[in-house]
Amino acid sequence: MHRSDHGISFQIQHTQASLPTITRRETATAVVGGVPIGSDHQIVVQSMTNTDTADTSSTALQVAELARAGSGLVRVTVNNDEAARAVPEIASRLTDMGVSVPLIGDFHYNGHLLLAKYPAMARSLAKYRINPGNVGGKRRDENFRTIIQIALDNNKPVRIGVNWGSLDQDLLTALMDDNARSADPHTSKEVYIEAMIQSALRSASTAEETGLAHDRIIISAKVSGVQDLLDVYRQLAVRCDYPLHLGLTEAGLGSKGIIASTAALSILLSEGIGDTIRVSLTPRPGGDRTEEVRVAQQILQSLELQSFNPQVTACPGCGRTTSTFFQQMAEDIQTYLRDQMPSWRERYPRVIDMKVAVMGCVVNGPGESKHANIGISLPGTFEEPKAPVYVDGKLVVTLKGETIVPEFLKILDDYVEKTYGAPAPATLG
Ligand code: SF4
Repeated sequence: MHRSDHGISFQIQHTQASLPTITRRETATAVVGGVPIGSDHQIVVQSMTNTDTADTSSTALQVAELARAGSGLVRVTVNNDEAARAVPEIASRLTDMGVSVPLIGDFHYNGHLLLAKYPAMARSLAKYRINPGNVGGKRRDENFRTIIQIALDNNKPVRIGVNWGSLDQDLLTALMDDNARSADPHTSKEVYIEAMIQSALRSASTAEETGLAHDRIIISAKVSGVQDLLDVYRQLAVRCDYPLHLGLTEAGLGSKGIIASTAALSILLSEGIGDTIRVSLTPRPGGDRTEEVRVAQQILQSLELQSFNPQVTACPGCGRTTSTFFQQMAEDIQTYLRDQMPSWRERYPRVIDMKVAVMGCVVNGPGESKHANIGISLPGTFEEPKAPVYVDGKLVVTLKGETIVPEFLKILDDYVEKTYGAPAPATLG
């Protein structure tokens, strides 16, 4: 800031005026049921069912819900004979429902047995998730190779998914012993992290030695602490070029799970690390499983990596908005947008870039509304009962009375049709 003879003038410091563009880490590309995963492709949101896989009808319905919410891949647990037998039936029900999302099988302990015993299940899955920490005790390598051979026979990719809670204990013990003998020992947490990384990378090498192509392997190494996850994935990112599946395991319930996952994934994604993501939320009893898909999408959209839905900017409300009218309207508009999206996505693919502002009063309402494609500034408690509506930065109408919400939604519909509808065919002559 400079003080001049004529008063005060300001010199704007042009520091980081805009965020640097995120450059993805370069990886191989693994194709999972037709969905490419790797740095040349968009980051894929994935999810996992929590139904009993043996219950074909509930599982197929939940897979369909997750897919319709935008999950690009859906994983189901395959933990016993009944679940293994159900998988082809689930796949066929999904086809009947017109849902074509690739299904991933999650295997622990007995994957080698189930995949060998149920070839139809092995064929109907698009990828096998293998946890190298629990493929078997003394016969670990043999069982692991059995799964890889079945993946080869069926031309399927695999995810080698190491988990903090089920780490290969022999490898961990060996590394801990080496560390104890070292003149300059690492902390036990550092050794744990090294064991996770080595478990993933050694298993990937074994898979390649067995014949699986380099670009048929995706790696994950999940932990439940944010800082630990950053450590693990930053190291994995420089020690291999496999596509990475990101996720915080056992993220937790409600806002804790959402915030911890968002914190961890946002940092890594901003560093270009991560090719497919899952947000592992613990749903409340009867809760909506699709929440994990919406949170994952919102993380990618907030980072401006991808757009999935129109964005609603709503002010937090304050003492100027003492009635619930404002909160209700913001909620109604958000719900309306969500309900319209399945059909809008088909008819108006670019609508995902739309920004809608719903503001509580005159303080920031008109300004924020002007920055959005379409915005409304509701009357605050002591303001005149009228709501100016802005379209592409210009005041177009001021709504009043009981019908503000339906009238605003009509303006919104017209805007979507006019702005994102297919361009009118060119006229000849
Ligand atoms: S826009 Fe108005 S109602 Fe909303 S938070 Fe700001 S001052 Fe409060």
